[in-house]
Amino acid sequence: MGTIRNIWRVNLKDCIFCNLDPSRIEKENTYALSFKDLYPVTKGHTLFIPKRHVQSFFDLNSNEKEAIFELLELEREKLIQQDSLITGFNIGINDGPDAGQTVMHCHVHLIPRRNGDMSDPRGGVRGVIPEKQSYLRNN
Ligand code: AMP
Ligand code: ZN
Repeated sequence: MGTIRNIWRVNLKDCIFCNLDPSRIEKENTYALSFKDLYPVTKGHTLFIPKRHVQSFFDLNSNEKEAIFELLELEREKLIQQDSLITGFNIGINDGPDAGQTVMHCHVHLIPRRNGDMSDPRGGVRGVIPEKQSYLRNN
């Protein structure tokens, strides 16, 4: 771990994820790495990125997808072992600015959830359009 050296990695000068301080890297494998979100939605919020700079999840090749999924599973395991209050997760990708993407280097969010961390969590990722979060409430 530590320095990011990979022939597939294109360092884009202005991309904050391409230029991430290596000390922030939590886990890495050949094609992907993970690190803690600087502005976590909940404690443990972790991001997973391909080492290669691509904007969209749909630009990833199968090695990169597999690498990201491997790190996701490892991190989930670590988080639930570290914190017994974690009872669920939101796994999400904002793909494109209109879907909320603010850093244009593809990343997957893993957001640990704990019972009672909000009053009515039903609908989860449907909350991207807040008034549509719960189909049970308003239809
Ligand atoms: P998105 O809005 O899906 O593009 O997500 C970008 C995520 O990156 C947000 O959750 C931010 O909190 C997080 N973020 C922004 N800057 C940094 C940074 N320098 N290091 C780690 N996470 C960051
Ligand atoms: Zn990048």
